Amino acid sequence: MGSEGKGERLPQAKLPEIKFTKLFINGHFVDAVSGKTFDTIDPRTGEAIAKIAEGDKEDIDLAVKAAREAFDKGPWPRMPGSQRGRLMMKFADLIDQNVDELGALEAVDAGKLLFLNKIVDIPFVSGSLRYYAGAADKIHGETLKLNNGLIGHTWREPMGVAGLIIPWNFPSLLLFSCLAPALAAGCTVVVKPAEQTPLTALYFAHLAKLADIPDGVINVVTGFGPTAGAALASHMDVDKISFIGSTEVGRLIMAAAGQSNLKSVTLELGGKSPLIVFDDADVDIAVDLAHKACFFNKGEVCVAGTRILLQEGIYDEFVKKCVAKARAVVVGDPFDPTVTQGPQVDEKQFEKVLSYIEHGKREGATLLTGGKACGDVGYYIEPTIFADVKDDMIIAKEEIFGPVMSLMKFKTIDEAIEKANKTQYGLASGIVTKDINVANTVARSVRAGSVWINCYLAFDPDCPYGGYKMSGFGRNLGLHALDNFLQVKSVVTPVHNSPWL
Ligand code: ADP
Repeated sequence: MGSEGKGERLPQAKLPEIKFTKLFINGHFVDAVSGKTFDTIDPRTGEAIAKIAEGDKEDIDLAVKAAREAFDKGPWPRMPGSQRGRLMMKFADLIDQNVDELGALEAVDAGKLLFLNKIVDIPFVSGSLRYYAGAADKIHGETLKLNNGLIGHTWREPMGVAGLIIPWNFPSLLLFSCLAPALAAGCTVVVKPAEQTPLTALYFAHLAKLADIPDGVINVVTGFGPTAGAALASHMDVDKISFIGSTEVGRLIMAAAGQSNLKSVTLELGGKSPLIVFDDADVDIAVDLAHKACFFNKGEVCVAGTRILLQEGIYDEFVKKCVAKARAVVVGDPFDPTVTQGPQVDEKQFEKVLSYIEHGKREGATLLTGGKACGDVGYYIEPTIFADVKDDMIIAKEEIFGPVMSLMKFKTIDEAIEKANKTQYGLASGIVTKDINVANTVARSVRAGSVWINCYLAFDPDCPYGGYKMSGFGRNLGLHALDNFLQVKSVVTPVHNSPWL
């Protein structure tokens, strides 16, 4: 079935049971102080799945107090790293044992494909936990031989209470790209999941308790960005904010940190990543990579390769095959294993993506395929490809966060590099070529935090990623991410015969 056939794929599969809907503070599921709740929505239908506790400032205060107590007086930062690592391993095992339920919650809350949640997202979560569990007892400082009869050493100590503000596109995977290094470092955390996708974070909190992670180490406050999120970002007793989300909200987070206690901030923000395909590339491989780069997870990917830069010689064949591949996408219920693209996360994103498509049409780009909503129930959009896209068009400049690809032509390697860098963002990039010299030249010249050569979205817990320019700063994943949650203390002492003695 092609991308037009979504309607026949409904009615949807049965909803998974929703067991956890309250805030998780100090090891207990509790109602919001206000007693308020909000609906989390099934993007397949636009209908409510469950009522979730709506945390606000008072709830953030309680969660931060619990995290503070657990950090200042509790066992977590004080226990040997190996013991933290063992508990994190146990947590990872429990996550693997619950992969079916977690995968289903992610599918119904975020519209993400069930089968991929089970083989990609949730295993990546447990894999990240194990990766950082292995690092928890290898957090070393330096020894320093100083002038004037002094010696010193450094300790890398946990920052303290970390606020993790998480988006909705990879609610589990991105949560653990922050949570796993924070735990390994010995921090305690308050998690604010996105309001669109609160279900898996609450389930993880339940599993953390079963794994014997002490009360107060992980707290989850569900609620909205401008209320709960803003209260966390400006809290005087939070030492660190790790934020993943839009550039616009990233600015607010930095401002809140600046206007409160100057807490440390790490930001992973938007992108408009180029994928550069050279004439010598295998066209089928290039089409597969571009398709994955742009349409994976219905385009709701911060590192999505949305600007496909094609050298003139490969252009025509690439376009023909790329359009055919997009037309073969099966849009529909993410619980159906034959479906390859689920619904956009909510009505707001659905409308936003459609309005970008209208901009593309109005600005004179050539619509090759897609270009409209799919079916009349839920938030489904056809995979869309525009050709003849110019650098200054809105669809070439702004992050769309939906299944919309822009094709652009170039002649020379210098022109490709110039076009690739013609963006305010710098999160990721891709290069498809058989020529190692071309690949290396472009890799060195592209101003982006990740460069994928002959692959794309090639993530690994050991590989750091993050932004240049307005895509943010600091790195998630890899050992670098531990630094987001550690600070350096220098300890200095005179030695025998020192002028200080
Ligand atoms: P998107 O625009 O893609 O929905 P956002 O950047 O708005 O992404 O959201 C990412 C996360 O930031 C979510 O958890 C959201 O609730 C939170 N958030 C939104 N606004 C604010 C804010 N003013 N302060 C703190 N967090 C916020």
